[in-house]
Amino acid sequence: MSQTPNPWVTALAQFDAAAERLHLDDSLRQILRSCKRELTVHFPVRLDDGSTTVFRGHRVQHNVVLGPAKGGIRYHPAVDLDEVKALAMWMTWKCAVVKIPYGGAKGGVTVDPKKLSDRELENLTRRYATEIALLIGPQEDIPAPDMGTDARVMAWIMDTYSMHRGYSVAGVVTGKPLSIGGTLGRLEATGRGLLYVAQEAARQGLTPLAGASVAIQGFGNVGGVAARLLAAEGCRVVAMSDSSGGVYNERGLDAEALQLFRQEGGKLAQAPGGDHLSNEELLCLPVDILIPAAMEGQISAANASQVRARIILEGANGPLTPEADSILAERGIVVIPDILANAGGVVVSYFEWVQDIQSFFWEEDEINERLRRVMVRAFADVKGLADEQGATLREAATMLGVQRVAEATLVRGIYP
Ligand code: NAD
Repeated sequence: MSQTPNPWVTALAQFDAAAERLHLDDSLRQILRSCKRELTVHFPVRLDDGSTTVFRGHRVQHNVVLGPAKGGIRYHPAVDLDEVKALAMWMTWKCAVVKIPYGGAKGGVTVDPKKLSDRELENLTRRYATEIALLIGPQEDIPAPDMGTDARVMAWIMDTYSMHRGYSVAGVVTGKPLSIGGTLGRLEATGRGLLYVAQEAARQGLTPLAGASVAIQGFGNVGGVAARLLAAEGCRVVAMSDSSGGVYNERGLDAEALQLFRQEGGKLAQAPGGDHLSNEELLCLPVDILIPAAMEGQISAANASQVRARIILEGANGPLTPEADSILAERGIVVIPDILANAGGVVVSYFEWVQDIQSFFWEEDEINERLRRVMVRAFADVKGLADEQGATLREAATMLGVQRVAEATLVRGIYP
């Protein structure tokens, strides 16, 4: 495949298009186009063989007008500052679309976590957490898991931050284990949010879920959970992949069995239950619903004309470029954008943070029901604006997010 497009260029192009439609004045555009804080850190980590390697990490806060900055931490070899900035900007619009009182942030370390031992990963995490402690805190900036990180990594960050403070600060990260102030429902939240959005899309007549064929790129927290929940809803999950490639079966795959296969260290390119295919082939399958749930820039001008899905439900952040959006819109393929579709994770992260602050914890059905209400309302807001404006769902969602942040910026005024 051709080189992955720069996600920051994509994020800015999406913002500029929304700002134009909203007739934002130039000063407001300048404010909202910039990241408020960009921290780059280089730090040594001692490896098991006694040697030391210096790693590079970032933490970026795009905007904090609506509340504390919120966003995940990614461990991946492709992490760079532009990617982190793009992901931080998308978090700002996402939080505004689902109306939770947060700004947008993101962090990352350029590393392949699969190549580190548990101890090396813990050392790297605790040192990175210390390096970004300048910025993070329960009222300032609250990390969460993203690609390559999980509840265990969040526990190390929470512990490191708490050790420096001298007392336990549960609210400094979300996506933690339950035993230290995590919430029920967080692990599944992003996949569950995708399900609720797919149900709303079905109600709007986009595609019925029962019997719908689904292909999913990326079999991690987002893709794996989405596969299981959509299968339980009557969908036929015909293809799934990870970074090694994927597996395809027209009659449907067993998501639970594949999960076990992965947990035991198997790669989907060698999984049983179907024919093998590449990630490029998966993206071009003739399916009702395609869920990119891995990296940015997977569908671009290079392959958008070959996509044969009816609906694209964005589990990943930024999986489509603006050029791909135009090609797909012309071809009548509906895209349900990341800042709406995958917002379930940050919504339940918000519930976790609220529970930590109150030291009062809710039942899982209450969490799922509150999540459903948020996603249904956000879908209706975005769809309503899209219909009113003759805009795509991405254009409408970005307009909605930008408009809410712009309004708050104007109401607060410029300091001093
Ligand atoms: P994860 O680390 O749990 O899983 C990532 C999956 O993608 C793995 O199966 C990996 O093998 C696969 N992958 C990596 N590179 C790939 C490639 N080039 N081609 C195909 N597959 C590849 O990550 P995750 O938390 O599921 O996040 C996936 C995406 O969803 C990211 O874009 C992330 O920003 C976004 N997202 C995550 C959350 C969350 O709550 N975890 C919330 C919103 C959005």
